[in-house]
Amino acid sequence: MKKLLILGAGTAGTMMLNKLAHELDAAEWHLTIVDQYETHYYQPGFLFIPFGMYTRRDVVKPKRDFFPPGTDVVMGAIDRIEPEAHRVLLADGRVLSYDILIVATGAKIRPDQTEGLRGVLWHKRIFDFYTIEGACALADFFKRWEGGRLVINVAEMPIKCPVAPLEFAFLADWYFTERGIRDKVDIHYVTPLPGAFTKPKASSILGDTLDKKNIRLTPEFSIGRVDEERPAIVAWDETEIEFDCLVTIPTNMGDEAIERSGMGDELNFIPTDKQTLRSLAHEDVFVIGDATNLPSSKAGSVAHFQADILTDNILAAIEGRPLTAAFDGHANCFIESGFGKGILIDFNYDTEPLPGKFPLPGIGPFSLLEETQMNHYGKIMFRWMYWNFLLKGVELPIEANMSMAGKRW
Ligand SMILES: Cc1cc2nc3c(=O)[nH]c(=O)nc-3n(C[C@H](O)[C@H](O)[C@H](O)COP(=O)(O)OP(=O)(O)OC[C@H]3O[C@@H](n4cnc5c(N)ncnc54)[C@H](O)[C@@H]3O)c2cc1C
Repeated sequence: MKKLLILGAGTAGTMMLNKLAHELDAAEWHLTIVDQYETHYYQPGFLFIPFGMYTRRDVVKPKRDFFPPGTDVVMGAIDRIEPEAHRVLLADGRVLSYDILIVATGAKIRPDQTEGLRGVLWHKRIFDFYTIEGACALADFFKRWEGGRLVINVAEMPIKCPVAPLEFAFLADWYFTERGIRDKVDIHYVTPLPGAFTKPKASSILGDTLDKKNIRLTPEFSIGRVDEERPAIVAWDETEIEFDCLVTIPTNMGDEAIERSGMGDELNFIPTDKQTLRSLAHEDVFVIGDATNLPSSKAGSVAHFQADILTDNILAAIEGRPLTAAFDGHANCFIESGFGKGILIDFNYDTEPLPGKFPLPGIGPFSLLEETQMNHYGKIMFRWMYWNFLLKGVELPIEANMSMAGKRW
């Protein structure tokens, strides 16, 4: 019996498990998935928690609900991969060997990487919304807050869901307007990027949206530390921005197990072939989702497109065929813009977000690079799609690689 081992049962690992369980002969292949936690979090839902739109209950389900029958489920922390010995060591001493390994250990925030971020003000005046704990603590804080300087700061790129901090700013504008205290809240978006977003065309549209909502934008700000006394964020060039409440998107990094395995770059992301999704260093190791070092967005939608490509390539590798399926960096992101509206962007490694209709050319119902109510419904529907289709590896009528149909350029 051959062994296929998946590390990480988040979005990408669970999708791959379901797809491969469907494709591989159970008499030939033993499928194992490893994770340290029993609970699956719908991370896109963390965005809505600080604004009282979702609670913890809306974003959690047991991981095991999504594993196909016959899967060997191993709960435990991964200590390290030994790629030369084709085995994985768990922290409790268990050893798992493999013929094929899929690494899907994701990315996580590392506030410890910035001096003063995780100090005395943590979860008192400084919050994240990239963890369930941070999002819930911020919800409690916002309920009682009477206003002041709200600074939203991206520490460095890449981050998971690069549009999420912008969505947070747009929703903050809506939330404080609804509470009748918008005039008492000065919202300031501070980013290391030269503009609001990574892609120039979308950046200009999203920058205009910030402007329209009276949200200040400070680009090219590289945080060096937090001055807890003032309090203020301080850039490497000593520029300071004072805050009453700081919402930070700290440095995102791959898991420490990747570092211990000697398989990561300086942020613990694994060098991966941008088309085949095979590890650049090891033939029998494949990487998917946020754990890769690819220049695509770190997003669930991206992991979903990658899963189609990777399934084809793993089947090819097993059958000794060349890996011909090629991922093009396709990302599709709904950007919640507040007041019941949203913006949709669709792009890949080479093509910037373009205007048009999605997914049906000329019909939509979603509009690209435009703020519409329908796009907001798309964002809200995504959670249902995630639990019922995406995680279960169900085929969707959307191509893995980006289509130009319906786009204007
Ligand atoms: C606030 C927020 C908003 C977002 N919004 C969107 C959105 O609107 N649209 C979108 O497409 N994406 C969005 N995302 C991004 C999306 O959630 C991630 O890109 C996606 O979950 C990545 O999947 P993954 O499987 O690579 O990683 P994850 O889903 O994070 O899974 C990694 C798994 O590996 C396990 N693991 C890691 N290390 C170890 C170890 N040492 N031992 C054992 N287990 C380990 C973890 O426990 C986890 O279960 C958002 C993310 C956040 C935080």
